[in-house]
Amino acid sequence: MEKIDLSNGLEMPSPGFGVFQSKPGQEAYQAVLWALEAGYRHVDTAQIYANEADVGKAIRDSSIPRESLFLTTKIWNANQGFEAACDSFEKSLSQAAVDYFDLLLIHWPQTHTRADTWKALEKLYEQGKCRSIGVSNYTSKHLQEMEGYASIKPMVNQVEFSPFLYQKELLDTCRSQGIVLEAYSPLAQAQKLSHPLLAELGSKFEASPAQIMIRWSMQKGAVPLPKSVKQGRIQENFDVFRFSLSADDMNLLDKLDEGFRTCWDPSSTE
Ligand code: NDP
Repeated sequence: MEKIDLSNGLEMPSPGFGVFQSKPGQEAYQAVLWALEAGYRHVDTAQIYANEADVGKAIRDSSIPRESLFLTTKIWNANQGFEAACDSFEKSLSQAAVDYFDLLLIHWPQTHTRADTWKALEKLYEQGKCRSIGVSNYTSKHLQEMEGYASIKPMVNQVEFSPFLYQKELLDTCRSQGIVLEAYSPLAQAQKLSHPLLAELGSKFEASPAQIMIRWSMQKGAVPLPKSVKQGRIQENFDVFRFSLSADDMNLLDKLDEGFRTCWDPSSTE
C-alpha cells in the first residue's frame, strides 16, 4: 500500500476500494470485508450508492482499528445546499455508524447549490466531523470558480481517469493547486481490458490488464479506486506493488487516450 499526502497532512492509502454498484446488503458487506482482508485500507462509498451501512458494518466486523482506515462518502445532488448537505451528512454518519469520515466530497457540481454545499463541507471539516474535504467531477473551470467562494481549498478532486481518458490538463491543474486527483472507473468499468497493449505489457510483467491500468494511474500520481465484488479480482487489483511501468511503457499507455467515458461528462455543467 502507498500513502499519498493531502494538503492538510492527512495520509490517503492507495489504491482505494470502490463500491459503486455493489449491491446493498451482503454483496457490498462481503466485498468490503474481502478488500480489508486483501490489504486495502481506503473505502470509497457515497450516499447514492445506498451501501454506507454495509461498509460501516464490514469495517466494524473486520476489527481493524478505525484510525487505520480511510473512509469516504459523498453528498448526493438531491442533498446539496447548506442545510440539506449538513443534514444528509448526519444521516451518513449514522448509516455507517462512524464518528467521522476521513473524506467528504461533493458528488457532482450542481449549478445553483455547489457554493453553499461547499460552505457546509467547510463547517463540517472545522467541526472535525470529516478529516478532509473535496469535490468530485469538477473540471478546471469549476475549480477556478471555487477561488471566488472557498475559504478552504479542496484537498481532493475525484474524477473519471484511466489510460483511455487521460485528463492530463486537469491532472496538471490539480497538481499545481495541491489537490490530489482520485481516479474513478480506473478500469474503464472493464470495457477496455482486452486492448492488445494491456495484454502485451501484462505479459512483460506477469500482470493482468487491470493491474496495468491501476499501475498507470498510480504512477501518474493519482489514487485509483478499483471496484469489484469478486474476491479474486479484489486481491488482484491490490497486488500492484511487485512491478513498475517504465517511462516508455507509460508513454505507450498515455497514447491510449480516446476521451472514453463510462460516466457523464461534467464539462457541460454550468
Ligand atoms: P471500475 O473501473 O473500477 O470497474 C469496475 C468493473 O470492472 C466491474 O464491472 C468489475 O466487475 C470489473 N472488474 C474489477 N476488477 C476486475 C478485474 N481484475 N478483471 C476484470 N474485471 C474486473 O469502475 P467503477 O465505475 O466502479 O469505478 C470505481 C469506483 O470509483 C466506484 O466503485 C466508486 O467508488 C467510484 N466512482 C465514483 C464516481 C463519482 O461520480 N465520483 C463515478 C463512478 C465511480 P466485478 O465487480 O463483477 O468484479
